[in-house]
Amino acid sequence: MTSLPDLKRINDRYRMFTAVTDSTEYDGEFVFSAKDNLTTYDFPATAGSKILEGYRPPFDATPVKKMREAGGFLAGKTNMDEFGFGTFSANSAFGIPLNPYDLNRSCGGSSGGAACAAAVLEDHVALGVSTGGSIVCPASFCGVYGIAPTYGRVSRYGLIDYGNSLDKVGVLSTKASDLSRYLRVIAGKDPKDPTSCAQPEMPEALGKIRSVAVPKEAVQGVSKGVMECFNKSLEALKGMGVDVETVDMPVLKYAMPAYYVLATSEASTNLARYCGMRYGQQDGDLTLRFDDYFTSFRSQYFGDEAKRRILLGTFTRMVGYADRYYSKALRVRASVISEYKKVYETHDAVATPTMPFISPRFDEIADMSALDVYKADFLTIPPNLTGMPHMSMPCGYSEGMPVGLMLTADHWREDLLLGAAIEWEKGFRIVKPEVIA
Ligand code: GLN
Repeated sequence: MTSLPDLKRINDRYRMFTAVTDSTEYDGEFVFSAKDNLTTYDFPATAGSKILEGYRPPFDATPVKKMREAGGFLAGKTNMDEFGFGTFSANSAFGIPLNPYDLNRSCGGSSGGAACAAAVLEDHVALGVSTGGSIVCPASFCGVYGIAPTYGRVSRYGLIDYGNSLDKVGVLSTKASDLSRYLRVIAGKDPKDPTSCAQPEMPEALGKIRSVAVPKEAVQGVSKGVMECFNKSLEALKGMGVDVETVDMPVLKYAMPAYYVLATSEASTNLARYCGMRYGQQDGDLTLRFDDYFTSFRSQYFGDEAKRRILLGTFTRMVGYADRYYSKALRVRASVISEYKKVYETHDAVATPTMPFISPRFDEIADMSALDVYKADFLTIPPNLTGMPHMSMPCGYSEGMPVGLMLTADHWREDLLLGAAIEWEKGFRIVKPEVIA
């Protein structure tokens, strides 16, 4: 286990935490971290935003509480894109976590700090949150396992909302068995969160995937290096007795635009509560009229991407436009769900690369437009839009950078994914990054 002084030194280099424990020793049976949009009574919660600086929640989010009750020691809060808005963790107000395989590259996002912590620290389990891919994307860029469960499997109580109909708390680790162990710990209906569900248990005997479908649409626009790793993984799956078949899922191409309509619509309403009166920063000029007070405060403390999403989301649900954007996006969401359900009539899971390219360098990210960044999510968004469980497994290296294989299963079939991860781990060895403390 990484010692606490080492953890602090490692954090100085990789910047995966927004806050680290003051304790001098671990007190617990295992060590975990929580993404900084999960509240805990003993750390500030900023969700990567300047506007929440100084906010100290008085309570633990349910998944954090459950981890502590299971013997977990919370070592710190992990860095992330502001409110989860991003794919590279470059939209945090508190510095950017650096990829342990190449410090000039991104950890992915928005749970970038979580994936970095899981990759770099010994025996560490990280709680992440996904709205549109924020667990599997960083898991793939940092070469670790990451699972986002079925929507409703894990309580969202104490989670700082991005998109309420999309947000899911999940687990990242270098060990497949950790995913299974700790997802069970945090799962379950919670009276404090009405969107958490009475749910089928995850069986002790994990499921076995016998056949996967590879959507044709998902391999278009994927880089050569990632494609090579992906094809090798499909061969490896075949070697494990899994049937691999290419299928057509034409509706997938509408998932990304529909997601950005729904996610920004929900985000723009969620962000309304940050007005300088309730949480975090409250140092606005009180001599202003109330609407000028809110405007000046929000202009000062929200980052650019948060502002962009407020504009987009407010527009898409405006009277007069809601039918054209918001309602249509809901219909696309329903079609994407039925398309997956159709595939599950004949296959156990859908397989694609997790991300279309290896983690980009920060200078490449600086040259990307907002739309380029949104498009990078075209593989991770469909499962998130459907609320189906999905997982990224490390499956190879291209130019020395990790590549992820993503599997998506039907609602409540995490057992299939967890079983696949345990099998996969027997044949795939993670090449750990060299950690410089
Ligand atoms: N990159 C996507 C977005 O910016 C997904 C992020 C997330 O899952 N929080 O919305």
